[in-house]
Amino acid sequence: MHDVLMRAYGPQQWWPAQTPFEVILGAYLTQNTAWKAVERSLANLRAAGALTLEGLRATPLSKLRRLIRPSGFITRKAPALKAFVAMLDKEFGGSLDALAAAPPAELRERLIALPGVGPETADAILLYALGAPVPVADEYLRRIAERHSLLAPPSGRKRISYDALADLTREAFASDPASTRGQLFNEFHALTVAVGKAHCGRTARCEACPLAADLRHRGPKPSAITFQFLSRTLRAASPVPPP
Ligand code: SF4
Repeated sequence: MHDVLMRAYGPQQWWPAQTPFEVILGAYLTQNTAWKAVERSLANLRAAGALTLEGLRATPLSKLRRLIRPSGFITRKAPALKAFVAMLDKEFGGSLDALAAAPPAELRERLIALPGVGPETADAILLYALGAPVPVADEYLRRIAERHSLLAPPSGRKRISYDALADLTREAFASDPASTRGQLFNEFHALTVAVGKAHCGRTARCEACPLAADLRHRGPKPSAITFQFLSRTLRAASPVPPP
């Protein structure tokens, strides 16, 4: 899938940010929010001089809430950003380099223990801000994995877990050289977001999707989505019935 998507879309060059600290702010702000809204918040922060560690540290909480209002959930996200800065100052001397030097597994646990940080945000920070070779999973990958019959929810559960998606990604790149894995995880997540936005939303639009051949090859189990896709394909291939 990585190779097919790379041929279709080319390198995505993520994360769209000028500094690692900006990546971290974006990872917090994009939770449950479209990226366009995050861009407006980041522009507000930049204009207020709060898009740096020093700037954010000096910004009062009430002002921070106003600046990030376009991203929503401001009563949760503003204190979460302040908690990150407090942790960085207290435990890593206010240094992102010191943070990046910590063992990734320990750092992941520390990040997840912070308010407002789940596995996806922690992994996005580790990969895109701190350069650790960890996979990032999201709702788009969950849909693709399920629709292509790569994974199914465990019995009694409705959803594939985040960790199962991350493990699947890790296994998929396990035979690639360790030195290239970080870049592969980087591009793969960005590419799955690209195909998810273009085709694999709540309703799958498989016809022109670069991954449609893989879907046919795997013979997915019947579902409302694949049924729609197959019936449209069959209609397109059938002669027009006489009136
Ligand atoms: S739109 Fe269809 S072919 Fe494309 S990734 Fe989703 S399920 Fe697969």
